[in-house]
Amino acid sequence: MDDMIENLKAVLKKYWGYEEFLPLQRPAMEAVVRGRDSIVVLPTGGGKSLCFQAPAVTTPGMAVVISPLISLMKDQVDALSECGVYAARLDSALPGKEREVVYQLIEHKVLKLLYISPERIFSDGFIDYLKKSQLSFVVVDEAHCVSMWGHDFRPEYRKLGMLKEAFAGIAIHAYTATATEPVRKDIAEQLRLENPEILVGSFDRPNLVYKIERRQNVMQQVCAVLDRHANESGVIYCIRRVDVDGMCEELSRRGYRVLPYHAGMADDDRKKNQEAFIQEKVNTIVATVAFGMGIDKSNVRYVIHAGMPKTLEHYQQESGRAGRDGLEAECCLFYSGGDYGVWQSIITGMEPNAKSIALNKLRDMYDFCTGVTCRHRAILHYFGQELDKDNCSACDVCLGELDCLEDSLIPAQKILSCIKRLDERFGADYTATVLVGSREQRILENQHDHLSTYGLLSQHSKRIVRDWIEQLAAQGYAKKIGEYNILKVTEKGRLVLKGLETPRLLKPAKKAAKEAAKESKIGRQSWEGVDRGLFDHLRTLRREIADEKNVAAFIVFGDAALRDMARRRPSMRDGFLQVSGVGEKKSNEYGSIFLAAINTYCAEHSLPMDITPVRVMSPYESDQESLSVPSQARQKAFALFAQGISPEEVAVAVDRKDSTAKQYLVEFIKREGVDHPSPWVDDAVFQRVADAAKTINEERLKPIFDSLNGEVSYDDIRICMACLKNQIEEE
Ligand code: ADP
Repeated sequence: MDDMIENLKAVLKKYWGYEEFLPLQRPAMEAVVRGRDSIVVLPTGGGKSLCFQAPAVTTPGMAVVISPLISLMKDQVDALSECGVYAARLDSALPGKEREVVYQLIEHKVLKLLYISPERIFSDGFIDYLKKSQLSFVVVDEAHCVSMWGHDFRPEYRKLGMLKEAFAGIAIHAYTATATEPVRKDIAEQLRLENPEILVGSFDRPNLVYKIERRQNVMQQVCAVLDRHANESGVIYCIRRVDVDGMCEELSRRGYRVLPYHAGMADDDRKKNQEAFIQEKVNTIVATVAFGMGIDKSNVRYVIHAGMPKTLEHYQQESGRAGRDGLEAECCLFYSGGDYGVWQSIITGMEPNAKSIALNKLRDMYDFCTGVTCRHRAILHYFGQELDKDNCSACDVCLGELDCLEDSLIPAQKILSCIKRLDERFGADYTATVLVGSREQRILENQHDHLSTYGLLSQHSKRIVRDWIEQLAAQGYAKKIGEYNILKVTEKGRLVLKGLETPRLLKPAKKAAKEAAKESKIGRQSWEGVDRGLFDHLRTLRREIADEKNVAAFIVFGDAALRDMARRRPSMRDGFLQVSGVGEKKSNEYGSIFLAAINTYCAEHSLPMDITPVRVMSPYESDQESLSVPSQARQKAFALFAQGISPEEVAVAVDRKDSTAKQYLVEFIKREGVDHPSPWVDDAVFQRVADAAKTINEERLKPIFDSLNGEVSYDDIRICMACLKNQIEEE
């Protein structure tokens, strides 16, 4: 048993460069290795693929993975090949010649994983063919497609039930990100699983920072998000195609590089735009819901909804495309009552049963928008789970961007009593108009200016009062009835009128909704110790390599791996292998080029290298804070520098390169405020550097190096400059 785990851990490290399992990965892998059927439900980004990919490597034979989407299969196979795991796919998009190669690989028992579409597995004698190869196990990915209760039922998945019989004695493992209890049961039945191990993770996506705002000036709101994610990938969802086109046009006019995607475009154009996004040639896609299926780009850092989706299921799925790599990502939703109206008019045409379900879902969605409870909690609750912490630290409510009124009882009573005075015959907009004391014609005509509640909230804007009404409805103190959303005071609302219960009402945000994703705890953790300049530099390098290889950028290295590189800043191969997400193959393939880039960048920017950070937690793990600490080697080096030992001797003593020891020295000088470089640099040399620095008046090293005709090394210039800086600070 321990051997099995050790084996899996070794594989995790060797091929993927990961040290630990994510939650549920270990039991999920155990089920696979032991050959017990399983159903695993983990959220997007929860690390499902590794649950079966790692055991596929440790188990003799070839695993078959059935997956509904060709683009996903391609990405998975590309990613596995990059890690050095033998994998291939068989689907209709694969040219005949390549298909032949795959057959040969199967026959020569080279493959560890074979990805195929459900149609393929049932095609001409393929099952018999597979029976002859040594099958290790079968995985049904996106297994919710098996169930009619799921949101994406696929008839061809129904036939997968016969696999159990076809491959007697071979375990089947079903994986999905979304499966309620009935769907799980259905999956087990449809696939005829035998006493399956059922593992259900939390649906929570702790790395997503949710922010919901009423739509005011949508362009301004959208641009604010884009500006805080310059150079990062993201998606803007609009409700209709015309909105996509309008948004694209306006953003382009303002100088943002964006591309559209919707079902009204020619297939080729859509494909081109999608590829440009995946290859990171463009950072932002503006799209309808048509965009997203089959895209598993891991480093989407923001998803903006410029309009409200019609259900929380849609919202969860679309916003869930952000942050698949587990790093922080921001999900901003800009809604308005108008969106409610648009969806409502679409729903009106449905048959009565479906209409009532759809309307309820729409209300839940709108209540979520106007609500004032933690967004993570609200989403989880909707899907039947509870949040296991008081504060998610990752939504506008918990981040304190929304301030609550100190005394919300009085305004709440005023609102509810106005609803009553209006005989519960009017909607939110009208009620707010009365409360702010408007002289609008319709109010005067109805003589509602004579009501005792008229103008009771005239010190507030109508928009704020409208928001409060929505908040009261979302908390169940009032409800909206019928097609026109007439307001009624509920039983709970009556308690408020009697002063027995106090709702929460928000006052408009004081703290600007800035940088929320980066300010969130997860954001802070995942950026801890990362040099952002170096991260950007490595990102460019990654894109160039991906372009050349014609693979998606994140297949080369994910953002998490690049951040860890920019955090550890390894100078040599052994340090590079310590980076999370760098396995042996990637180290061999990209080590030299990335190490060269890191060394040069660190030299040019006087950055210390070979940092050993305390492990940065995945957001799915415990939420302990982490900190970079000086490595033991650096601490030892500092002690030696304090005794005036030369960098060359220190390099030997701490077993590092000379250049690393010199960087340690620069850091030692900065830390200790040393203002003269002897005994490490001659007085005369120091004087020359000081003169040059004065004349050139620049912090960059190259102009100084050039002006000294290359006679003083970069290392010496760096040491001198650090001392000069300390002199200035002393003055
Ligand atoms: P899912 O299929 O559940 O959406 P993935 O399998 O794509 O999730 O994994 C999400 C991200 O987490 C990927 O970037 C993956 O490389 C990373 N990951 C998976 N397992 C681990 C692990 N044990 N340690 C660190 N990162 C991991």
